[in-house]
Amino acid sequence: MNRLYIVVPCYKEEAVLPETSKRLKEKLTDLIKQGRIADNSRVLFVDDGSSDRTWEIITQLHRQDPMFSGVKLSRNRGHQNALLCGLDEASLHADTIISMDADLQDDIGAVDKMLDEYDKGCEVVYGVRSSRKKDTFFKRFTAQGFYRFMQAMGVDIVYNHADYRLLSQRAAKELLNFPEVNLFLRGMVPLVGFKHSEVTYERGERFAGESKYPLKKMLAFAFDGITSFSVKPIRLILSMGVAIFVVSVIMLLVFIIQKLLGHTVAGWASTICSIWALGGIQMMSLGIVGEYIGKIYNETKRRPRYIKETVLDQE
Ligand code: UDP
Ligand code: MG
Repeated sequence: MNRLYIVVPCYKEEAVLPETSKRLKEKLTDLIKQGRIADNSRVLFVDDGSSDRTWEIITQLHRQDPMFSGVKLSRNRGHQNALLCGLDEASLHADTIISMDADLQDDIGAVDKMLDEYDKGCEVVYGVRSSRKKDTFFKRFTAQGFYRFMQAMGVDIVYNHADYRLLSQRAAKELLNFPEVNLFLRGMVPLVGFKHSEVTYERGERFAGESKYPLKKMLAFAFDGITSFSVKPIRLILSMGVAIFVVSVIMLLVFIIQKLLGHTVAGWASTICSIWALGGIQMMSLGIVGEYIGKIYNETKRRPRYIKETVLDQE
């Protein structure tokens, strides 16, 4: 029988955990009754070094009901690392793993559809948002910009798919074999391959607590995703450099001809402007190249992606 693990990274989620655990328990109990999953299926919470009562709530849930289990990271490592740690732990016990956010913005009704796809032989099932009516205009606008920009920058990701997905044990183990420390799971999962499909669902509102992804983190996440998965920005810089160089050579020729014809060259302002513009472009380019070097630096250090402090038993 299919042993299912639902992996939920939690960072300061004390406000949503009681409700989330209740709804997930209902869902699992229902699936177990239908005989779709094994009766030792679990919900695995990963506490990403929260400073609030998150871990306390998780251990309490675990004591009351073996359906709930948990891993505590030694410190806050960010959503992607916490999620990977959860996949790591779950892949030791589960046949299938579904990852989702603690706030249940991603409709848990889609779990049934994901299992249907798994039964048809898919090892990776992406949850895709059909609409974002419930998101604020700002979130919708920035999120859509994010997917478009990623695609334009040459990163192959599934449109409107976040980290709500089903992985078979085999797919999860293969994903864990990717050694990189700059994690961008949305870009990595498609690289794993295997038979895959998508299920759509409506994205709801966060029912309590606030988003742990403010604009600043979201921009950093997008930037990380691009620089971890594509060298297109460096190519853009190169072509920009070539174009500017060609233009400047043409301008030089024009100026020489004008000088020979006896026209004095006016325009101190335009000279200064171009110096500033070129200086800016160079600095920006160096910055982007530097970003890639920084990534290489981080990868060569091979630091652990997460450190488990406590693992609650799973039996
Ligand atoms: N999260 C995490 N570590 C962090 C930030 C967020 O584990 O450093 C978790 C958070 O608890 C939630 C998920 O990542 O389960 C998504 O965060 P959130 O719902 O705040 O993001 P949004 O839906 O607003 O993009
Ligand atoms: Mg959310």
